Amino acid sequence: MITEEIMGFPVDVITYNEIIKDLPEYLQSDKKMSAISVNPQIIVEGQNRSEIYEFIKKSTHRIPDGIGIVLVSKLLGGQIKERVAGIELMYRFLEYANTYKKSIFLYGAKPEVVADAAEKIQNDYPNLILSGRIDGYTDLSETEIIEKINYSKPDFLFVALGFPKQEEWLARNIPQLDVSVFQDVGGSFDVMSGHVKRAPQFFIDIHLEWLYRSLIDRKRFKRILQLPVFVIKSLCWKVRTRNDKKNS
Ligand code: UDP
Repeated sequence: MITEEIMGFPVDVITYNEIIKDLPEYLQSDKKMSAISVNPQIIVEGQNRSEIYEFIKKSTHRIPDGIGIVLVSKLLGGQIKERVAGIELMYRFLEYANTYKKSIFLYGAKPEVVADAAEKIQNDYPNLILSGRIDGYTDLSETEIIEKINYSKPDFLFVALGFPKQEEWLARNIPQLDVSVFQDVGGSFDVMSGHVKRAPQFFIDIHLEWLYRSLIDRKRFKRILQLPVFVIKSLCWKVRTRNDKKNS
């Protein structure tokens, strides 16, 4: 697998199919897959947070989840051609779990959101085993959460606590968890459950759901405004590291 570096952060040149192809290797052994979204926000805010950087570095699949990542890769002469969206990857994992009767666990989001997401998933993917769910505002302690997940030993664990909580939580707890595949999924349960409306089909078909959601959600709109800053910072980083190499 080819890995590129953007402002010091590793991002893998990888497609949905390649990630799915890797699943059996992890599901049939003790190895743990961590499919983690890398986007401009994580890279910019992760610059001064070594625990986030270390976590991304150690993850097995660092997915290029953001049009900003694809754009910067192109500008730097890299090979990332298309975005691997976290929510889309989660749907592919669910399809796989449905086909091979694997078990999943949902952790995060508001109680009613994770409950509705669970119901929708079980409806749409009747052959997968939904082995449990915990909302992201639970009174359970971290140890109790780990115990509950380990008790049901799911094949897949989807963590939806938003950035940086979900990354920090996974960084702390992956070693203790008896799970094969981990994914951080941000606001995906909100979309899947129908609590946040999906974009019209047209936007989904042309892979621009992110743009639609950014235009109707203030927090996401702000992130779009940060995009040019991210692109410029990434280019400056590249020039600086090139010069540093030349001078050393
Ligand atoms: N969330 C949570 N516990 C918290 C904070 C956030 O479960 O303490 C959930 C929140 O309800 C939402 C998700 O984390 O479902 C974050 O969604 P957001 O859209 O902010 O994440 P992004 O996709 O932007 O990373």
